[in-house]
Amino acid sequence: MKVAIVGGGLAGLVVAVRRVEAGDEVVVFEGSARLGGQLHTESLHGFNVEHGAEGFVARSEAVPSIARAVGVGADIVDQLVQRSYGFDGTSLKELQPGEAAKFLGFQVAKDELGRGIRSFRDGMQALPTALAAAIAGRARIQLERQIVSVRCEASARVTLTAHQRAPERFDAVVLATNAAQAAALLTPEIGPAAEALGAATTLSSVTVSLAYARDAVEHPLDGTGFVVALDAQQDGLRACTFSSTKLPARAPASHALLRLFFRPAAGEIAGLDDSAWLARATRGLSRVLSLRSAPQHFWVSRWGNALPVFDAAHVERVRTLESALTGRGVFLAGAAFHGSGIDAAVRSAENTALALASYAASGVH
Ligand SMILES: Cc1cc2nc3c(=O)[nH]c(=O)nc-3n(C[C@H](O)[C@H](O)[C@H](O)COP(=O)(O)OP(=O)(O)OC[C@H]3O[C@@H](n4cnc5c(N)ncnc54)[C@H](O)[C@@H]3O)c2cc1C
Repeated sequence: MKVAIVGGGLAGLVVAVRRVEAGDEVVVFEGSARLGGQLHTESLHGFNVEHGAEGFVARSEAVPSIARAVGVGADIVDQLVQRSYGFDGTSLKELQPGEAAKFLGFQVAKDELGRGIRSFRDGMQALPTALAAAIAGRARIQLERQIVSVRCEASARVTLTAHQRAPERFDAVVLATNAAQAAALLTPEIGPAAEALGAATTLSSVTVSLAYARDAVEHPLDGTGFVVALDAQQDGLRACTFSSTKLPARAPASHALLRLFFRPAAGEIAGLDDSAWLARATRGLSRVLSLRSAPQHFWVSRWGNALPVFDAAHVERVRTLESALTGRGVFLAGAAFHGSGIDAAVRSAENTALALASYAASGVH
């Protein structure tokens, strides 16, 4: 079967690996200039800085399983500390397991308490890099190929068109994009069931990573970081990870790497430049920790409308769209559709790869 995968993030790459293994002819279309989507590690000056996700839930079986399949299972590392702090506007207090989530106003299942996350020694980028290496030479991977149209044909073929490219026909297509892109691509074909997905609620995030000389920060940094109580938040600062304490190999021993998480207000992602975010980050951190000097390096990561919100309405929208897609050779995969986060993205992709196998076996195309 000739299969197109739209989106070279984690989910798209997992589907690609599984379908290449099954003998399909696979083409991955990625709109940006890099693979990995929301997994993006930058390694510089001895720091491994996460622009996107920092790790996956420790209970995950799906992530270690695909990591082993592509040769990086042994590179998985565990969180080094469990203690976390809360800032109530006045001082830092050690929190009980689960209290950090309460501070931020969300719930965590009991079996997740105190288990933390896992990552890869050199950062989360290791996973998409290994997935891409596993299919190199066996699949076509096309970067900077934004798909702008999906057309289903009566002959059970699907035609894709990339920006300023000729259309290409496939037996099946997997959309491993965000919900807004899937809605835009499918509305001309499917109508209201696809259009409704465009109404999905998403959240934006900005993170600022700061690298300090270790002795510039007057705190033992003996925890995963701190969360800021809802009523004490300023400038959208919600939390800070002590990255160099939480996970191994994030910074040289002489330095501390701290990552601040902001929920930007409308217009702030595009409206504030890096120096404005740096000023916010150092101002926010100074409320909590005593700092003897300025950071030596900083990294700003902007994620507009990137985080899906899984309320009952979204689950229902995805279910309705998937039933409208039945038999058309178009499938959905990824965190935008089947549960947010890395573990959910991998499980979604594994399920979509199996659905493709059933589709191939049905002989529809
Ligand atoms: C700041 C941040 C922190 C996070 N922290 C965590 C964490 O600690 N733990 C955790 O589990 N999860 C975390 N997440 C979420 C996690 O990273 C994502 O759920 C997961 O990586 C999503 O993978 P995906 O493949 O489904 O989607 P994506 O990574 O969004 O990939 C979709 C891809 O599709 C491409 N694309 C979109 N439209 C088109 C088109 N028309 N044509 C071609 N290509 C297209 C995009 O460029 C992108 O590369 C975090 C996310 C962010 C942003």
